[in-house]
Amino acid sequence: MIAQKKIQMVDLKGQYEKIKHEVDSGIQEVINTTAFINGPAVKTFQANLEHYLNVKHVIPCANGTDALQIAMMALDLKPGDEVITASFTYVATAEVIGLLGLTPVLVDVYPDTFDIDVEAIAKAITPKTRAIVPVHLFGQCANMERIMELATKHHLHVIEDVAQAIGADYTFTNGKTAKAGTIGTIGCTSFFPSKNLGCYGDGGAIYTNNDELAQKLRMIAHHGQSVQYVHDVLGVNSRLDTIQAVVLNAKLKHLDAYAVARNQAASYYDKAFANHPKLIIPTRVTHSNHVFHQYTLQLKNIDRGQLREQLAERGIPAMIYYPIPLHEQKAYQSERYKNGDFPVTEKLCACVLSLPMHTELDEDTLQYITTTLLELIK
Ligand SMILES: *Cc1c(COP(=O)(O)O)cnc(C)c1O
Repeated sequence: MIAQKKIQMVDLKGQYEKIKHEVDSGIQEVINTTAFINGPAVKTFQANLEHYLNVKHVIPCANGTDALQIAMMALDLKPGDEVITASFTYVATAEVIGLLGLTPVLVDVYPDTFDIDVEAIAKAITPKTRAIVPVHLFGQCANMERIMELATKHHLHVIEDVAQAIGADYTFTNGKTAKAGTIGTIGCTSFFPSKNLGCYGDGGAIYTNNDELAQKLRMIAHHGQSVQYVHDVLGVNSRLDTIQAVVLNAKLKHLDAYAVARNQAASYYDKAFANHPKLIIPTRVTHSNHVFHQYTLQLKNIDRGQLREQLAERGIPAMIYYPIPLHEQKAYQSERYKNGDFPVTEKLCACVLSLPMHTELDEDTLQYITTTLLELIK
């Protein structure tokens, strides 16, 4: 069997075709009115996202990395303050901690869910710790309830990195639910094109339920400006373009349906790969649903490089998120850490493989991907 169309990690074109009319006319309207910056679509998107997330304040900004940086700036952290985050994540999370002169304190993740290890957080807390940055990696929430307990006990801020999990629902032990990113002090997300809610360029947002913090976050994102040309604090320039807000307004309406499509693809993969002696499928937790930003397998006794090549020859892309642990990256090496300090992260970096995951995967394609992969590892 051969694939009918080119298989991609993410099919943004196929997704666009279905919302083309709204996106095209909306973008044309922005151009007609030349409201490129802070146009009406930015305000409606802010309100739409606040409503969707059931959060008091959304502050749109230029990208997810800025969102994290602005969040940390708003918390008045001082150089030398320690910020705990996961050793298995995209670099942006640790990057902003370092950029602000704060000390990134890395902790390992759970081997089955890829999320930050709560016991490891507890052990890493010192008198200098000021914040925890859990990353809801690959689309499923970290254990926020236990993280919030630790944070309350030690008076720490919690900045949720929701770049990969927008729309995920967290369920507390008492049965109450909340959207990922609305549980901690601040939530930060990215609208990078390939994210679950992606625009057609860069974009990001910050969420909070705290009025005072919201005002400060907004001020920092706009040059620290309180009133026009009055600058109260050191800020940055971080805005969401109106054109991007148009795209996001069109896609937000479909975000839940997108998550359903991603889950259908994930279930297909699960069924094909469960109980295979050489594969570990991603574990689902009970405290969160999964929005499958990535579908990530762990390979056992398989030459990953060779498998990737063989898949590529058969038209199937597969990616390694992430190949090098943060503490082994040149820019993040420190006396604090040596190889072997984060055994789970080190093992995951060596064995993970992410398969095509998007909203446009049909059954023929999924069948082709799964049968080809199974044949190759026989
Ligand atoms: C994508 C991503 C970011 C950064 O988002 P940008 O919009 O690319 O700056 C931060 N954290 C995680 C976990 C991400 O996946």
